[in-house]
Amino acid sequence: MEQRLEALNEHLTRVIDLRRATSVLDWDQEVYMPEEGAEPRSQAQATLTTMAHEIFTSDTTRSLLEAAEAEVNDLDFDSDEASTVRVVRRYFDQETKLPTAFVTRESKAISRSFMAWRKAREADDFSAFEPHLREVVKLQVEKAGYLGYTDHPYDALLQQFEPGITTAQIETLFSDLKAGLVPLVKDIAARPSVDDSFLSLSYDTQKQWDFTLILLRGIGYDFRRGRQDRAAHPFTTQFGNTDVRVTTRTHETMPQSAIFSTVHEGGHALYELGSPDKFERTLLAGGSTLGLHESQSRLWENQVARSLPFWHYYYPILQAFFPQQLGDVSLTTFHRAVNKVEPSLIRVEADEVTYNLHIFVRFELEKSLLTGELKVSDVPEAWNALYEEYLGITPPSDADGCLQDVHWSHGILGYFPTYTLGNLMSAQIYARALEENPGLEEGYSRGEYAPLLSWLRERIHKHGSKFTGPELMQREFGTQISAQPLLAYLRAKYSELYGL
Ligand code: ZN
Repeated sequence: MEQRLEALNEHLTRVIDLRRATSVLDWDQEVYMPEEGAEPRSQAQATLTTMAHEIFTSDTTRSLLEAAEAEVNDLDFDSDEASTVRVVRRYFDQETKLPTAFVTRESKAISRSFMAWRKAREADDFSAFEPHLREVVKLQVEKAGYLGYTDHPYDALLQQFEPGITTAQIETLFSDLKAGLVPLVKDIAARPSVDDSFLSLSYDTQKQWDFTLILLRGIGYDFRRGRQDRAAHPFTTQFGNTDVRVTTRTHETMPQSAIFSTVHEGGHALYELGSPDKFERTLLAGGSTLGLHESQSRLWENQVARSLPFWHYYYPILQAFFPQQLGDVSLTTFHRAVNKVEPSLIRVEADEVTYNLHIFVRFELEKSLLTGELKVSDVPEAWNALYEEYLGITPPSDADGCLQDVHWSHGILGYFPTYTLGNLMSAQIYARALEENPGLEEGYSRGEYAPLLSWLRERIHKHGSKFTGPELMQREFGTQISAQPLLAYLRAKYSELYGL
């Protein structure tokens, strides 16, 4: 056993425990904390976060890390030991490259900008957010400088969220995807529109909730190792692989929102629950990059829960909950309705065909903001022009346009592409799952999801966060991330649904 590595891991358990405690506070803040609880909560969070940061970036960590690096030098890249050291090094560099004074400045600017964004969005007034966005962009350019890059400042920011992928690679992937998506959206638009009016009837929210619990159990979520609560913006959080919690929201006149958001978060949770015990309390514990995480949530949400076999099993159960609303609606009609494709203004409500077009818009704008080609004052105009170009619609307001997402107000640039990378990988992974498991989808009609889950455990989850997206795709599937599998999946599915 590598003693120096052991010492490093032991030292970092304190960081991990502090972060887990912070996550409990974050979870409680989103789920149960009373309105007036914000101040003492943010003080407690700041204390824990600072403690974790101080231990992680300390000279002790540095010397233990260097010693461990020397020790694992000759080990295989894929070994748990070399991977631990590699992952610790990546985070250590990220956290120590930013001067403390910058981090303080950034966090102050972000809390101001977040408050300004909320008001600006409410008042549909971009000019109230503009100076803050200018500050955010300036800080992100500065941050890219500290983190370092060779080609594009975007690379530096992207690495924080999706290590191992460059801006140039994303440009290629996106242009391949765009080339296939644009004609598909046009073909679908030329077909008669799908009737989904019955989804706007009133659906008791308690019954919706009860149905989501059935779904979670059905896909293999273990309630002895987790729980579901309500949150305005659904998320998943974990305090170890034996306590992974999900949240969902219910809208009375939009039952599909709770259904698919529950399965989406359930997909994230299954990934975390599948992280091996041997990685517990090390930095290899839990799911890997944002893109890989999203590949798991999207796979369950789209490829599985929007499929016809899935609803063969679950639709009669849903109908029993809502006989008045759905008693006369056939399975085929329901399945078509939850797969309706329509260019829309809001990213988080977009269907799986048009979703990535929303991401292209943000990626283009972020890149040109960082290089200064696009001025912050011109963002609304540029946003609207790209929506017209990609989706054929123009936002009637900035609230439903460039002010809709929280990310920029939080100082987060370089994050959006991870959603599309997740979609691409989900299609690649799922195509392989079908190839290797004939009869997989047939099982869905009988409520059998364990075969898919064990396959995902074996091919994806067992790696914890050892590998980046490209590393994992190469090792498990001998392939690179590419756009074709997603395009093939969408083309086949929607040709059938829309009779293309
Ligand atoms: Zn997600």
